[in-house]
Amino acid sequence: MDEIAEIVHRLQSEYIPGLTLDQCRESVLAVLDKREAQHALLTGIALDVLAEKDLLPDPLAAIVKSDAPLYGVDEILALAITNVYGSVGLTSFGYLDKCKCGVIGKLNDHSTGRVNTFLDDLVAGVAAAAAARLAHQHGRSFVVDRDARPAEG
Ligand code: MG
Repeated sequence: MDEIAEIVHRLQSEYIPGLTLDQCRESVLAVLDKREAQHALLTGIALDVLAEKDLLPDPLAAIVKSDAPLYGVDEILALAITNVYGSVGLTSFGYLDKCKCGVIGKLNDHSTGRVNTFLDDLVAGVAAAAAARLAHQHGRSFVVDRDARPAEG
């Protein structure tokens, strides 16, 4: 939980002056409160657990266990979380997928014998969504100033 909040802080502190870890933690909890996030997490974690116990049918078992690079369903599932907060989350998710920052890198470590094929992306999805949520809360809204419109004619 705290490790996810740290990633959110890393994503947003540059844009939100004075952003605290507590605010990041609160944003992560708000994301986890969403049904979309809960459903994606339940689905992905179940597949990781089943793969680890060799309970998935082949060839899916082999694909999930090896975290095959061309298997993109783990990323797509995680986007169900990120999409709740629009395109800002999408950019952060792409960045986290590349940098494997913090706990995401630990989860992506294949030497442990654990299967985290879905979990690393789900964590990135939660962090990206929590960062996007903060961005939307703190972003300036651009309202059209009616008086500033050029005169018609
Ligand atoms: Mg993955």
